Amino acid sequence: MRSIRIGRLAGIPIGFQPLWLAIVALIAWSLGAAYYPDRAPGIAPLAAYALGLLSALLLFASILLHELGHSLVARRHGVEIEEIDLWLLGGVARMKGQPRTGGDELRFAIAGPAVTLAIVVVFGLVALALPASTPDAIVALVGYQLFVNAAILVFNLLPAFPLDGGRVARAAIWMRSGDLQRATALAAQIGRGFGYLMIGLGVFGAAAGAFGGLWLAVVGVFVIVAAKAEEGGLRVRTAFEGREAGRFVSFPAVTASAEISVEQAVERLFVPYRYTAYPVIEAGRPVGLIDASHVERVPPARRATTTVRDAAILDPELLIGEHQDVAELLERPAFQRVGRAVVHSDRGEVGVISITDVNRALRAIELSSR
Ligand SMILES: [Zn+2]
Repeated sequence: MRSIRIGRLAGIPIGFQPLWLAIVALIAWSLGAAYYPDRAPGIAPLAAYALGLLSALLLFASILLHELGHSLVARRHGVEIEEIDLWLLGGVARMKGQPRTGGDELRFAIAGPAVTLAIVVVFGLVALALPASTPDAIVALVGYQLFVNAAILVFNLLPAFPLDGGRVARAAIWMRSGDLQRATALAAQIGRGFGYLMIGLGVFGAAAGAFGGLWLAVVGVFVIVAAKAEEGGLRVRTAFEGREAGRFVSFPAVTASAEISVEQAVERLFVPYRYTAYPVIEAGRPVGLIDASHVERVPPARRATTTVRDAAILDPELLIGEHQDVAELLERPAFQRVGRAVVHSDRGEVGVISITDVNRALRAIELSSR
């Protein structure tokens, strides 16, 4: 799912998944309906819901600071941050590229929990410093932040890769063995174990009436899926390191002129050639690509008046030379999202590389190295 951008912090784009709004609303509602009336008897319903919303937004800010901690440390060690994305179970700082050493990974992994620990300490001190005359609602507000941040801290430090604790574990194994692949496999295995444990405990808890157990089970599933994805990602990176994009493309591709209409593109390209994607050429140079999904997005009545340029995706991240390293291309979020990129050769030919091509090649590479 695409995230909604809300701005930048320290130059890093911040976004959230649409579903996150539902989570914020759910937290605000449950706090307003139960927590605040419980902790501050006699509170006006409107005030309780307003405090619920404020608490949810403060939680949002805490998670953002945690991710910013990871991001700023990563950036200081030369790993660019694509964006910070808030989603169902918290936040994620998407890195462009990978930590180069176990020590780097250890520093990135620990930076987030360190920020959360600082937040816990601050709210703890505030809670201690509140005078006895403080209204119950304010005490409850501070108490909630203290509680959720402590929960985030403990949860993130579980050694369940890819949670922060699991990354710390991987970094430690990596530093000792010098073997990233082995460290990842081991950390992913521990992560999977924890994932199954969480599902078991969660289902058991839910069956025993603790409804929050379902949440734990969902997180367990997430941990198992993410551990597998991380392992697979590393396998792919290892296979493609140092391999050039040009080897996985057939030149020259059939191209689409930027200025023709979408209708013309359908008639002249999509129907006769039946490829799924075409490089878009403007003034003799590739500027982007158009695929069937871009055409589908233009209502049929407007296809005659919409140009290929308007319908196509014109992301410079998706324009690469034939010597582009495939492992690096696979890391690009734009490539992961679109699944294709335009490759131009030194001789001026243009082609398309797709994730499907890369996967096919991966199978061949693995067959030959066995
Ligand atoms: Zn973290």
